[in-house]
Amino acid sequence: PAYHQAEFLISAATLKGLPPEQGREVAFAGRSNAGKSSAINTLCRQRALARTSKTPGRTQLINFFALDDTRRLVDLPGYGYAKVPEAMRRRWGQLMSAYLAQRACLRGLVLVMDIRHPLTPHDWQMIGWAHARQLPLHVLLTKSDKLKRGPMMDTVRRVARALGDDGVTATVQPFSALKKQGVEDVHGVLDCWLFD
Ligand code: GDP
Repeated sequence: PAYHQAEFLISAATLKGLPPEQGREVAFAGRSNAGKSSAINTLCRQRALARTSKTPGRTQLINFFALDDTRRLVDLPGYGYAKVPEAMRRRWGQLMSAYLAQRACLRGLVLVMDIRHPLTPHDWQMIGWAHARQLPLHVLLTKSDKLKRGPMMDTVRRVARALGDDGVTATVQPFSALKKQGVEDVHGVLDCWLFD
């Protein structure tokens, strides 16, 4: 599978703007600054596929990247800015819940969380929407280079347990875009969701 051949396809601000429901796609979600763009760029071995610096409060877009004619990676708008107006937060919630509930070609959700700040309320909201339709969930605890191995593995276990305690089935792994740690593991999950 040619993740490095990913190309920008289209941005959508509303459900009407989504590309046709053909083939398969996998979506990436995460709090702003969690490291989602860096993760996507690392997985696709490209420096600037997903933008890594965004301004809070800008239009919330769903960005689609094509791997080939029938497979896409989807970059969902980051969330959790402190200063986002309530109306925009509500709009984000409507767009995300509708996309996750209705998108039939969506095969899985990759939730990107900073390993030092996992499971924020918005993360739980994304998890809940994925769980509501039994969408497979894979958690990337990124910036794992910020922790030593012991605390890193403790966090992986703690997050996996918290999800399990909540009745959520998910796989959890450490990841570092900086150190390129965990790349093969993510590829394995994406291979399974997109190419099986
Ligand atoms: P996004 O808002 O979730 O797309 O986050 P970005 O990918 O733009 O990353 C936010 C910040 O975290 C940037 O300053 C990145 O350089 C940094 N960052 C992202 N991934 C890593 C990582 O694996 N390790 C470290 N140390 N920093 C990272």
